[in-house]
Amino acid sequence: MAIVVNRPKLTFAEKCYLPAIFAGLAITWKHLKRALFNKGIVTMQYPEEKWDANLPDWYRGAPTLVVDENGREKCVSCQLCEFICPPRAITIKPMEIPENDKWRKVEKRPEEFDIDMARCIYCGLCEEVCPEEAIFLRKDYSITGLNRAEMVHDKKTLYKLGGVMKGLTFKWNELK
Ligand code: SF4
Ligand code: SF4
Repeated sequence: MAIVVNRPKLTFAEKCYLPAIFAGLAITWKHLKRALFNKGIVTMQYPEEKWDANLPDWYRGAPTLVVDENGREKCVSCQLCEFICPPRAITIKPMEIPENDKWRKVEKRPEEFDIDMARCIYCGLCEEVCPEEAIFLRKDYSITGLNRAEMVHDKKTLYKLGGVMKGLTFKWNELK
């Protein structure tokens, strides 16, 4: 059933965008004053200068794959991240873990795992949906390439960027 959402009545000033324009001008004036009276720099010379040391813990950089402290692959190739990814940046080719492999218990691992960073919008949904805590958005944000192919992070690159993630890994829990 369709739900009708009533639109709020805008004032004349709101229709002209005046409050938003004056709010923007006030911020510009505030920064201008700081620059004129030498009260703190508001810009930096990127990329020579970077803010990297001050990134908060919850910063969402590029998505990566991680291994646990024993070097074991956490991803079980369930493909939930592939399905949830809004711009369809993730492509996974699952493979069955061979019978004689000591981690056979979880059945699958990714044979190929690509993330197209030219498509990724750093939304973090892949990290949220992953039941195995295998994919994390780390702090790398300066992802560049000379062509589209170079912007695709393959499995090897994803593990290199992701590194080790310590802590509870449900996949290896013996009670499971
Ligand atoms: S961060 Fe968002 S856009 Fe990027 S790969 Fe994950 S789900 Fe897709
Ligand atoms: S990273 Fe997580 S959600 Fe994506 S396929 Fe692997 S286990 Fe599934």
